[in-house]
Order: sequence, then structure tokens, then C-alpha cells
Amino acid sequence: MKENYVRILETDVAVLGAGTSGLCAAIEAAREGMQVVLIEGSDRLGGIMSVCQGMPLGCGYPCQKSVGGIFKEYIDSLMAQDPPAAWIRLLPDSAYGWDVYYNQDIAMAKFYQMLEDAGVHLILRAYTGEVMMDKDEVAGIEYHDVLGTSLLKAKVYIDCTGNGDIAARAGVPYEVGDEQGHMMAGTLTFIMANVDTDAAFPTQDKECHNFQADELVESGAIPEGIKTIYYTRNANPGQVFFNWAMAREVDGLDPESILQGSNKARKYILALADYLRKNVPAFKNAYLDGIGPLVGIRDTRRFEGMYYLTEQDLMSRKKFPGSGIVCCDNVFDEAGRGADGAVTHDSIVTVKNSDYYQIPFETLVPRKIRNLMFAGRIMSADARAMTSSRGMASCMIMGQATGAASVMAIHNHTAVQEVSPAEVVKKLQQLGVAGLGDEAL
Ligand SMILES: Cc1cc2nc3c(=O)[nH]c(=O)nc-3n(C[C@H](O)[C@H](O)[C@H](O)COP(=O)(O)OP(=O)(O)OC[C@H]3O[C@@H](n4cnc5c(N)ncnc54)[C@H](O)[C@@H]3O)c2cc1C
Repeated sequence: MKENYVRILETDVAVLGAGTSGLCAAIEAAREGMQVVLIEGSDRLGGIMSVCQGMPLGCGYPCQKSVGGIFKEYIDSLMAQDPPAAWIRLLPDSAYGWDVYYNQDIAMAKFYQMLEDAGVHLILRAYTGEVMMDKDEVAGIEYHDVLGTSLLKAKVYIDCTGNGDIAARAGVPYEVGDEQGHMMAGTLTFIMANVDTDAAFPTQDKECHNFQADELVESGAIPEGIKTIYYTRNANPGQVFFNWAMAREVDGLDPESILQGSNKARKYILALADYLRKNVPAFKNAYLDGIGPLVGIRDTRRFEGMYYLTEQDLMSRKKFPGSGIVCCDNVFDEAGRGADGAVTHDSIVTVKNSDYYQIPFETLVPRKIRNLMFAGRIMSADARAMTSSRGMASCMIMGQATGAASVMAIHNHTAVQEVSPAEVVKKLQQLGVAGLGDEAL
């Protein structure tokens, strides 16, 4: 611990990382009267929602019913705007079920408003550093910004950094990738504007279009092995969104590896945009309007929690009546793991949309550290289960659950491990999260 910190902040709840999970953790705790500091390393809210801007919000509608809670509140308010700023859709033949696409700027403005209304103390462009421990408790976290190094002290810390920087430094055991350590591919997403969208979606499907990539592969512009490329409608008129180009074997914990993968993917995007303008009439006058800053990273660390969610739990559509915090029926969404891993969307249900599993609260609670939780894609799960449970709507409710649990730990003066999962479930039910406890979805 230094002696000359720029600032020393003391708060009830510290949330680290302002992606979908962190935003909702902070908002929930602050709405329940806590002082909350939310630290974000970048200058944007949203995490992957901003790195891959335009990425549809998935996992919000298991069995075509809303998961409810803060996700529903958020989407409802975007859809209620005039003109609407979000739309729910079912992509035909999509393995994903319903998703939500939205106007990026308005969606982010809404998050800023929700933070402000809740009274969250947001600090952008501040990256967390050393984690100070006092036995089994986090005693403080250093963060660095343009002014220098500051210290943040809280009663409860919620790690929503996507990589679990806090939990890792606090010594919580974790896994990375599959049994061989292979992570999923990263993807550099992009948008094309001024597209003739009537012509760009020539089939019945007005939201999504696939096209053969043979010619591009043969020309050497994009790597071998890519058979089709697809794009979807984006929020603004004339825009389409590409959840492409994939960068395999990027180490999501190594900034240089992320940059190298992004540089390679950027070249593929330029080649693809050029090809589309020259060869596809719908794109004749189109231009690139938003390549992501870097590849979006799907998975890095997953932490050991009080419960470890497994592929088998998902396959048996396991419910946790006393601790399930959110319902999900997302596919196993494997995206190019390792050098030649396939992109697959294996269904977890035998009959489409017939059933769902639940994510229990204990996947967000470490075994030992008494005042730390984690939420989002770093939850306690095996590599396969995590491919399904990492959707943004699920991350939002995971965040909301940890925010609510932090309030209980503080009010009851207990460790987070002693917070009653049943009480968390009850609270989430009061907050409108659907299908929990004895209720079916
Ligand atoms: C290419 C790609 C496609 C995807 N497709 C979909 C899809 O179609 N639909 C869907 O629902 N989900 C999709 N996902 C999954 C989903 O986007 C993520 O699982 C989810 O957004 C993760 O949210 P999170 O809050 O856990 O973390 P993140 O969104 O990663 O947020 C973490 C935040 O923490 C900040 N941070 C990191 N380290 C620090 C630090 N040390 N100090 C301070 N701040 C820090 C980051 O800047 C970031 O803002 C996709 C993901 C990727 C990468």
C-alpha cells in the first residue's frame, strides 16, 4: 500500500467493470440505498456491447418469454421511445431464439441515465491494479487514472471485469479455456452503412442473410475454411451488422495477442467490404461505418464458485428452486476454439424452445473471500456451460443478483457466502425476474 494516493475513496459497494453485468450490479445496489463506486477501464459503458457495437442482446427470451428484471425494464424503455430505439426479433432458423437490436447511442445514453438516477459514482478511464488483502477479505483496490494511483475501499466488491482481474489478484482459483486451455476465437465486428437494405435481404428473411464466401476465399482475401458469411439488419436505416471477422487463437489475457488478432481481422474486413461494393449490387454505394476497436473476447478466466455449473446441468435443464437467479435456453455457442475448432450452435433442448435451465446464485460467490462476488462471463462454470450462459441478458441479471446480494451482506453484517440464496431469489422475484423459485417460466 502506498502512502501518497491521489484519492482515497470509501464506499459501501465497489463494482469493477461497466459491461452489462457491472452496470446492472451497480444500479441495483445503488437503488437499494448503497453508496456505489463503479470503476471502468475504458471511456465507454457496455463492455462487449461497445467493443462490438451493434451486437444484439441475446438470451433475454428463454421459451420466448422475457427473463424480466432489469433487462426487461431496459428493453421496454428503449422500445417505448419515439421513435423506438430497440426491436425484438426472431431470426428465422436462428439457433439463438429471440434477440434485441438497438440504437447504440440511445442504448448507452439510457445506461448513463440509469446510473445517474440511481446515484452511482462512475469513474471512467480508471484501471484497477493491486488488490490488498486482509486474511480472507479484500481490504482495498488500487486504481490508476490520469491523475495517478488512488485507493478504493468498500464493504463489498463485485468483479465484473470480464477477465476477473480482481478475483484473480485476490487469489480465487480459476480456469481458462477448455481442458486443453483453448479459448474461443475473438471477433472483430463491423457495420456497413448506405446499404440498399431492400436488396440486401433478398429472401423472405428481412433480418438476416447468408452468402457463400467461396469466391473471396479463392481470391485469397479471407482465410480458408470460411464457407458462408452472414449479416443482420442494424438499428439505423441502411445499416447492416456483421458479427465477423473471426481471429483464432487470440489469448484474451494478452494485449499484444489481441492487437495482432485485431490487425489481421481488420484486413479481412477491408477486403470483404471492397468485395461487396464491387460485386453485390445492394452494397454498391455502401461504406464501412464502425469497425470495432479490437476483437471482442468471448472467454478468458472462469472462477471457482460455491457452485460449478456444468454441461450436464444444462443438458438436464436443471432448475435450482432455492437459488436459481435467471432462466436460459441458449444453445452451446462454440465459436472457433483453438486453431481449428468448429463454430457450432448445438441445441441444449431436444425440442426447440421446450425447456430451459437456471443459473444458480452460488456460481457468483467464491468459496473463501468474504466480501467479493463476481458476475458475467467469469462466473463459475465449465467451458462448455459458459458458451451458453454468457449472453448479455443473463449477464445483466447476474449483475442485478450480485448487486442485491451485496446489500443483504452489508445490512446483515455477514460474509457474502452467508447471504441466503433463497432471499436473493425472493428479492429478484420482487424485482420482476421471471421463472424463479416455484414459478415456472
Ligand atoms: C464476438 C462476440 C459475439 C457475441 N455475441 C453475442 C450475442 O450475439 N448476444 C449476446 O447476448 N451475447 C453475445 N456475446 C457474449 C456477451 O457479449 C458477453 O458474454 C457479455 O457482454 C459479457 O459481459 P460482462 O459484463 O461479463 O463483461 P464485458 O462486457 O467484457 O465487460 C467488462 C468491462 O470491464 C472493463 N474492465 C476490464 N478489466 C478492467 C479493469 N482491470 N479495471 C476496470 N475495468 C475493467 C472492460 O473495459 C469492460 O467494460 C458475444 C461476445 C463476443 C465477444
